[in-house]
Amino acid sequence: MRFLARFTTPLIQMIDSDHFPGGAESVRARPEKFEFARAIPFLVLHLGCLGAIWTGWSWTAVAVAVFLYVARMFAVTAFYHRYFCHRAYKTSRAGQFLFALAGLTAMQRGPLWWAAVHRHHHAHSDDEHDVHSPGVKGFLWSHVGWLTSSRNFPTDYRLVKDLAKFPELVFLNRFDVIGPLLLLAGLYGLGSALGTWVPSSGTSGAQMVVWGFFLSTTVLFHATCAVNSLAHTMGNKRFDNGDDSRNSLLLAIFTLGEGWHNNHHHYQASARQGFYWWEIDISYYLIRLMGFCRLVWDIKAVPPSVYRKAS
Ligand SMILES: [Zn+2]
Ligand SMILES: [Zn+2]
Repeated sequence: MRFLARFTTPLIQMIDSDHFPGGAESVRARPEKFEFARAIPFLVLHLGCLGAIWTGWSWTAVAVAVFLYVARMFAVTAFYHRYFCHRAYKTSRAGQFLFALAGLTAMQRGPLWWAAVHRHHHAHSDDEHDVHSPGVKGFLWSHVGWLTSSRNFPTDYRLVKDLAKFPELVFLNRFDVIGPLLLLAGLYGLGSALGTWVPSSGTSGAQMVVWGFFLSTTVLFHATCAVNSLAHTMGNKRFDNGDDSRNSLLLAIFTLGEGWHNNHHHYQASARQGFYWWEIDISYYLIRLMGFCRLVWDIKAVPPSVYRKAS
């Protein structure tokens, strides 16, 4: 039975991510190690990209894949990271629900899990307790390995009490599979409709799923993971934070501003991570645009005292 549970429990957790028959604390106490059952969703995601061999490609499918990469990277950086984790600006209750729903489509689990893991990272940056420090645990572990260890799977609700006050957010966090399923259904429907009604689009339901979901999500996954791995190994240090966080223009471009990671580790409360006009931070520009449209407000700036410390 125990052997069987090693595979059935992760399967049930794909639907209900708060399913812990023996309690979440016992899972959190497990040793830190690679577990194949937890790696299966990531293997499926990568293998799905090979579907392009059979479906082929079209400009329509490529355009949708690129759009979904940018839109979902924005959801991860501006909503999951800067809003839910760091509360760097404010929005309405309906707004934060839509932020959470958009973030779910990135297939990076729910906003409370994401924020709890990331708050823990800031509290223990590059020390022995940091779950994804490349300096302490190796590059590959910091990039993807830590995600396969079941001890990192439960949401630590103690670290996100401010977010757990909202039952609708807890619901989305628990049933995070809703996001990828909605995206898959939408892409299949869009591809099928275009293939039938606009034959010149050259696409189909299956092709749209391969490009819009599998390829786009895989690239998005690695670009996000790079903030944990590369942004703690590659680039410059402006501030001496006592950790390995770095600033990198290249990473900032691919991650819509998250590459200014040394800045961010130094001052986390700001909505802005590129501290100067030449530090490109697309997420910040879009947050300002949302502010202009009154969708968000109280956008937190970098205080003068931080600029005075900058070298
Ligand atoms: Zn970091
Ligand atoms: Zn952060």
